[in-house]
Amino acid sequence: MVAEKQHIDQKLVSILEKVSDPEIPVLSIMDMGVVRSAIIENNIVKVQITPTYSGCPAMDVIGDDIKAALKTAGYNSEIELILSPAWTTDWITPRGRKALENYGIAAPLDAETDKDVLLNGKRIVKCTNCGSTNTKLVSQFGSTACKAQFQCEDCQEPFDYFKCLK
Ligand SMILES: [Zn+2]
Repeated sequence: MVAEKQHIDQKLVSILEKVSDPEIPVLSIMDMGVVRSAIIENNIVKVQITPTYSGCPAMDVIGDDIKAALKTAGYNSEIELILSPAWTTDWITPRGRKALENYGIAAPLDAETDKDVLLNGKRIVKCTNCGSTNTKLVSQFGSTACKAQFQCEDCQEPFDYFKCLK
């Protein structure tokens, strides 16, 4: 599902862009697409975030990190979790996908293709080291529950793939 239009106050964008994803430090929460809205009301910043994976403990950390970043910038804030529509990896920005790949994590495919890869063994996930698609699923769970572990059969490099599945 496509993300609804985000309502983010321009004054807050640069602050929120400095908050990184706790699991993937090269990605900002803006690049992850988890910030649904951020508005200033009566000098309080109201931020709505949508959790990524239900299995990721990172969301509590993200809320605290956002509050801390806004506090540093002089704002008190309230964080609200929005559970519907559910976050999908489609919300990751193109810049975020590039950062993921540079970090050595294969960027997610769309949800339908993702199922073929994880459940039916379809080989289309690109090796982050050499770009070959001759890669195989090693484990449904990589370094965290949000990632699957793959190995490249050409260069033998192991790498993580960011799953769409919950
Ligand atoms: Zn490779």
